[in-house]
Amino acid sequence: MRKPIIAGNWKMYKTLSEAKQFAEEVKGLAPDPVKLDTVICAPALFLDQLAQVVKDSPVYVGAQTMHSESEGAFTGEVSPVQLADLGVDFVILGHSERREYFNETDEAVNKKVHAAFDHYLIPIICVGETLEEREAGNTTSKVEGQVEKALADLTADQVKRAVIAYEPIWAIGTGKTATSEDANEVCGAIRAKVESLFGQNVAEAVRVQYGGSVKPENIEELLTMEHIDGALVGGASLQPASFLKLLEAGANA
Ligand code: PGA
Repeated sequence: MRKPIIAGNWKMYKTLSEAKQFAEEVKGLAPDPVKLDTVICAPALFLDQLAQVVKDSPVYVGAQTMHSESEGAFTGEVSPVQLADLGVDFVILGHSERREYFNETDEAVNKKVHAAFDHYLIPIICVGETLEEREAGNTTSKVEGQVEKALADLTADQVKRAVIAYEPIWAIGTGKTATSEDANEVCGAIRAKVESLFGQNVAEAVRVQYGGSVKPENIEELLTMEHIDGALVGGASLQPASFLKLLEAGANA
């Protein structure tokens, strides 16, 4: 049995005081960590203080991106060593907004995934197709290609611990969700790709999330699907009440 994982992706929202207030409100109400992994992926600026607020609670803190090098002359960047030092446990890598607006390539994502494991961070690796690619019937080939490149040269043990988030780009922030069946089909294709690369044990262990306009109204059905082990959530993770509903659905999945 794979443990569900619900991760909030706050993107570039909230001030520090709003972030802390959110964490204070949620930490005592988050489900038992035996049932669910709960992650808040916050702007890098807040990670230090958030990690302190949620210490000894079931809530993990995650970053939204990072550099692949441990240190160096990379103005404005944040390194895996710096994240790990703050008590950060997860990092989103290859989000479609990073790929689209910051030119993040599959090769860069692969380097970052290696760097994450080198520093005991769990990567949440995002993959997904554009609307054009879906309409042209290229969803599976696009997503399988992204998965293969992101996981290149990892060990089976590392891939078992990775989280892969299937996020169709046309569903992010648009209110349009993939149907549960479509989402499950692509998550299943991702798992099959992992199996062809790393074997059945790894494919059965790796967690695959769906992301793209997930909200309290649609999460339950998504989580009934065989290959969907959780959700990566933007908009609906910003308010404690809605995030807590998502967590409850995750714990009951
Ligand atoms: P959304 O964002 O839930 O607002 O669609 C998802 C994401 O970008 O991870």
